[in-house]
Amino acid sequence: MITRKRLIEIYQLLYDVFGPQHWWPGETQFEIIVGAILTQNTSWTNVEKAMKNLKSAEFLNPEALHNIELSQLAGLIRPAGYYNIKARRLKNFLNWLFDNYDGQLINLESVDTSQLRSELLAIKGIGPETADSILLYAFKRTTFVVDAYTARIAARHGLIEPGADYEQLRELFQSNLPQDTQLFNEYHALLVKLGKEFCRPKARCPGCPLEKLPHELDITHL
Ligand code: SF4
Repeated sequence: MITRKRLIEIYQLLYDVFGPQHWWPGETQFEIIVGAILTQNTSWTNVEKAMKNLKSAEFLNPEALHNIELSQLAGLIRPAGYYNIKARRLKNFLNWLFDNYDGQLINLESVDTSQLRSELLAIKGIGPETADSILLYAFKRTTFVVDAYTARIAARHGLIEPGADYEQLRELFQSNLPQDTQLFNEYHALLVKLGKEFCRPKARCPGCPLEKLPHELDITHL
């Protein structure tokens, strides 16, 4: 019960200070999916450059990206870094989409969330953070996205043991918050902002929206 109250309290403090984050940037469902795959290990600015290349070349749709040569795709997404690996990941996603769902994102709408999550996780190169980002931001499914920022903030605020894995961390939020897609959407984005601006490896507690809540910085391996 204390955890539930604290999680809501944290959300309200963050929202009051930072306001809505308007995630996920992307005009279409497919753009959100491509962005979620490209953003692994790189900044959003670099992802935007890669997306711009894809859009200018008119490849930012499932059919075109499924048919494009791997080497050409890698060249277009080069600004996103790890472009050969990411080109293969995009192809893996598209092969799964075309092999199982006729290449139509609309066909995924009727698939149950846990089934869809399992299928996304079975695609080579799609890890839990990417799968949950796709589910939450592209398909508006009620699944909480966690990342290294979430882990650091939750551990420092005594909400979870340091070193908790992805699923434990996700469960913390997923099971203690109201099942509200918009809340999950905003909460993850706010935690990312907090992690970037204040809760860095070397914490900047003075002036942080969560400064007044109990926290412990003596967690050396975060
Ligand atoms: S910077 Fe300090 S107060 Fe802010 S979230 Fe991190 S540990 Fe908490």
